[in-house]
Amino acid sequence: MAVSTSRITSEVDFLEDGKHSGYLRLPHSVHRSAYGWLPIPITCIRNGEGPRVLLMAGNHGDEYEGQVALCELIRQLQPEQVRGRIIIMPMANYPAALAGTRTSPLDEGNLNRSFPGNPDGGPTQMIAHFIESVLLSDCDYFVDLHSGGSSLHYLPTVCGGRRDDPVEARQIYDLMKVFGAPYGFIFPRGREDRVSTAASARKGVVSLLTELGGSGTVTPEILAIARRGLRRVLAHVGSLRDPEPELSVPLPVKLTRADSQDWFVHASADGVWEPLVELGDEVVAGQPAALIHTPETPWREPAAVSFRAAGIVICKRIPARTERGDCLFHLGTEFDPAVG
Ligand SMILES: [Zn+2]
Repeated sequence: MAVSTSRITSEVDFLEDGKHSGYLRLPHSVHRSAYGWLPIPITCIRNGEGPRVLLMAGNHGDEYEGQVALCELIRQLQPEQVRGRIIIMPMANYPAALAGTRTSPLDEGNLNRSFPGNPDGGPTQMIAHFIESVLLSDCDYFVDLHSGGSSLHYLPTVCGGRRDDPVEARQIYDLMKVFGAPYGFIFPRGREDRVSTAASARKGVVSLLTELGGSGTVTPEILAIARRGLRRVLAHVGSLRDPEPELSVPLPVKLTRADSQDWFVHASADGVWEPLVELGDEVVAGQPAALIHTPETPWREPAAVSFRAAGIVICKRIPARTERGDCLFHLGTEFDPAVG
């Protein structure tokens, strides 16, 4: 592991063979606990040399699919089944995951807007710094399991960030196909460098992010995709000694992309929003997307918002009450990695 300036210490030795579970200790000196620390659960499964993999969920605390799938993997996976090292963090932003909220109740920190973090910041900044400067600095592959959380719902989607390095870009597209979610989404190139995909790019780590369902719950269908996808990725990168042959059977995935904010539809007013399309629908530019009603002034005509691009509806807002600026939908347009 890299020499760390982090104040977070690990009960688990990442260089030791075997399966070891314990806590990252984040110093947290507060009124009720002067010398206390926050316990961030972590497991390391290591068996000799091989790929170094980091699997993470609970980056946003109200996204549960990955948390459940990783707990199960920790219990099931044994060192003799593994090549190299797999580090698993099911509750990356532990205070947020404990509270079941997107951001941390301790500092309002959104972990996925906090990279590269700060070892002297609040708990969320300290966690981001540890993940980027310690874990990703000593890592080959990274999977960050997200979903739509409380406010959004996604079709089961695996996501990748764009990379300037063509070899890294190809590896990411290959992993997106391997995971086995029915949809893939390439994030638009942008200025957002505070997310985990940007952190992994800075460290040259091949990374995947998922957006598996959401609505603040878990479903059997989505969990099955998450479980299978994790094992398929581990088999593909060489982390499993004797993977089941069915893990390498190709599965269909529709790769999509969004080029700009035109692929996102936001509420233009406060009120109760009425969706005019559903997840999975194909829409065209100019098509009506939603009406926003104002029961407070029921005689007023609802505000209408339209799609500004064509594509498949892969994400929608869940709560009916909305405020101007909330994301209601986003689209993906079919994407051919060979063309870009
Ligand atoms: Zn998330």
